[in-house]
Parts: sequence; structure tokens; C-alpha cells
Amino acid sequence: MELQDLLDKFGKYSKQKPVLLKKAYEFSQKAHLNQKRFSGEMYFTHCQAVSDILLDFKMDMQTVAAGLLHDVIEDTPITHEEFKEEFGEEVYNLVIGVTKIAALKFSSHSDAQAENWRKMLLATARDIRVIIIKLADRIHNMSTLNYMPKEKQIEISHETLSLYAPLSQRLGMFNIKSQLEDLSFKYLFPDEYKSLAAKVQIRYTKREKLLEEFKHDLEEHLAETQIAYRVLSRAKNLYSIYRKMMKQNLPFEDIEDALGIRLITDSVASCYALMGIVHSIFKPVTGSFTDYIAVPKMNLYQSLHTTVMAPSGEFVEIQIRTEEMNKTSEYGIAAHWRYKMGDRAKDAHLNEKLDWLKQWIEWLQDISSPREFIESFKTDLELDQIFIFTPTGEVKALPVGATPLDFAYAIHSDIGNTCIGAKVNNKMLRLDQNLKSGDVCEIITRKKSIPKKDWIAFVKTARARSHIKRFLRENGTLGK
Ligand code: MN
Repeated sequence: MELQDLLDKFGKYSKQKPVLLKKAYEFSQKAHLNQKRFSGEMYFTHCQAVSDILLDFKMDMQTVAAGLLHDVIEDTPITHEEFKEEFGEEVYNLVIGVTKIAALKFSSHSDAQAENWRKMLLATARDIRVIIIKLADRIHNMSTLNYMPKEKQIEISHETLSLYAPLSQRLGMFNIKSQLEDLSFKYLFPDEYKSLAAKVQIRYTKREKLLEEFKHDLEEHLAETQIAYRVLSRAKNLYSIYRKMMKQNLPFEDIEDALGIRLITDSVASCYALMGIVHSIFKPVTGSFTDYIAVPKMNLYQSLHTTVMAPSGEFVEIQIRTEEMNKTSEYGIAAHWRYKMGDRAKDAHLNEKLDWLKQWIEWLQDISSPREFIESFKTDLELDQIFIFTPTGEVKALPVGATPLDFAYAIHSDIGNTCIGAKVNNKMLRLDQNLKSGDVCEIITRKKSIPKKDWIAFVKTARARSHIKRFLRENGTLGK
């Protein structure tokens, strides 16, 4: 995407003077001048593509600029000071956020661990815009993955499937989620992907005619109304079909997969009006009607859902929503993450914090038990958590100031009770010293060793303290 196209695209939704964008574009182009991608293309084409995706999301100027510059600090000799000087604190922080995430090495394959990784990712990012840039980066890298060596393809696809696809779903970015899933699916299970894609193609060619007839019927009835609307066919998410097949242990032929269409209209009132008309023409399936407009999902998704029987006897799933709701369903949080273009509130920082807080609450409510939610809320939000690795790559979240003993008790009370020392990043660390985020900590235990009374004074977590106290009490050594 050439500079002028980029500026035009930005100008379509923002009145801000794009001085920063122009500067970022030229700076990045120059900085990456001598670098090439695996495809043989200029490296800068990647930065262009990432900013193009961010413009699709209608992100604010700082974010688009950071998209252009996101690999500059990591991959070119430009120093942190130079960068800050050129682009200021805000763009610098966005780029640093992306760089930090890139440095996290995702290694575990278990679901529970993936959950911790996603938390860590969010905590590391600090600003949700960092995640959105990272997702744009990942979409482009996935779509050009065919140029990478085979083992890299597998590794990156695996990371995308277990980390970034669920993350985009959490953030309500369904479009992105399907894209990331289907691309990963293609590299991780190439045979299954090919055969399923072919079968889906055949099924949908057959069904297209049915769908056309249905649309025609519908349009005839709606022609008399004054309601503005457009009809969209729904994109298919191959991986979600595959997952259904695996889960239900059924071949593709036996997977129920109703025809689906989407009606987009101009207002909430029109949504309900359309729904009424649809139900008056076609017989709705009992219990299929769901009102996500009155009761939106946690990730902000809104729509009316119903399933009706077409004259051909086929079931058709219909979703009715406004343009705005449709945008939200495609872009999720990104659609809500818009500064008022041109007139940022005086205390932009406060706004940012409040929005961030809101997103956290929504995100956390979606995933956590209430107790866990309150705890994460208290600690994560203050950003006073650190993340410590076991030698096998598991992550534990601990409060700032946590010691190797807190880490030992976080693994298991027996590990804590018999702890005699700790190796951090391969060096011995005293048990009362503080761990830092990213440390790899190995706990050394001795079988008959027991907790010391003075441990209580320096451990940080309630968990460690109560285990130590309980042991001492039960063995009659407390208070002596
Ligand atoms: Mn990149």
C-alpha cells in the first residue's frame, strides 16, 4: 500500500492531520531498506500490510503509526532513545509492547498453560492496542507462511491456534479468529484441510441454489416495507466444522450445518421489525430465537438469531443486526477502541485507563470464576504481577516482590515445605530475594527438610504464609 493510499484510507474515518503517519511510513521504509522477507519481498511490505489491516479496524493514528514501526526496534539498529525522540512516548510504548510480546517464547501445549499465557500476554501488553497490532502482525505473517521453512510453519501455526485465535475470540474479533484458525488448520493438518475444503465446496455449490431461492422469497416480502437492509451470506470457518467433527466423532456428511444468512439493517427497531416479518413468512423452529440485542454477550456481541424452515424443507439460520453490531462482531474490541477522532478528551490517560478497566472486566468475566476474577482484578489491573517460569516452561503468576519460596509454594506445598534453595536463571538466589518477571526458577528440595520460622517474615503470598504456619503449628514448632 503506497503512502497516498494509506493516508486516503485513514482520511475516510478520521479528521486528524496525518503528519505522524507520513513520518512513520518514511521512517520505517528507510529503516528496513536492506531487509527482505522469506518471500524475497522487501521487509517493508510487511509493515505496510500490518498498517493496512489496522486501517481496516479504523484504529487511531498512533496505533497505525506503531503498526508501520512495529519491527523497527527489534530488527533495525535504531535505538530506544532515537525512537522516542522521533515518535514520542505513546507510539514508543505501543511498539515496545509488541516487541515484548514477540520475545515471549510460547512452549507449553496444555490448555491450562495456554490460559496463563494469554493472561501474561495481556498483562505484558498493558494497552489493548498492543494486542490489536500483534493480531494484525500475526494475520499477515500467517497469510505469508508458505514461504517459511516447514518446522517454522508448524510452530507458528500451533502458537496461533492455541494462543492468538482464542485471544481474538475473547476480544470479540470473530473475523480474525476464523481467519487465524483456518490458516493454522491448513498448516497443521494439510490433508484434513484439503479434503474438508473440497467437501464444503461441493456442499455449498449445491446449497447455493436453495439459498438464492430463499433470499428471493424473503426479498419479495420485504419489498413492500420501507426497511433498509442488505443480505450477507455467512463465511465458513473450516476449522470450526473440523472441531465439531472431532468432538462428535462424526464424518463431515453427518455434521448438521444449517444454511445461514445475515440481514444487516439501520436501527434496532428495524431489527425487530425484520424479525417479525421473517417469522410471519417462514415457520420458526421452536426455541431457536435468541435475543442478543437485549442481552449482549460478554464480548459485546449483539444480534438477533432465529432458525426457520424454508419452503424447500431446509433449516435456515438467520442473524439480524445493525451495521454497527456487524462491525462489532467482526472487529470486537477494536470497534470500541476508538478515540474521538480529532478531539481527544483532556485527560486522555484517564480515558484510556477507564476503557482498559472496562475491557478487563469484560474479558475476565468471560473466563474466570468470581473469586479468581476479583483476585485478577486486584492484581492484574494494578499491573503488579510478575510471571515466573518453571524449568519446563510452565508459568506462574505471582505478586511483585515474590520470593523463590512463594514460587515453591505456588507449585506445591510439599515443594515449599522441603525447599532448601533456588536456582534462578541458573544462578543460586537467596530465598528472601525478589524474583523478576521472566525469571526461570528451579527449586531445590531435600526430603526431610522443614520450613523455618523466619520464612513467615519475608514471603509475599498468603498461600506460602499459611502453609508455613500450618506446618509449624502441626509440628509444634510455632511460637517456640
Ligand atoms: Mn512483524
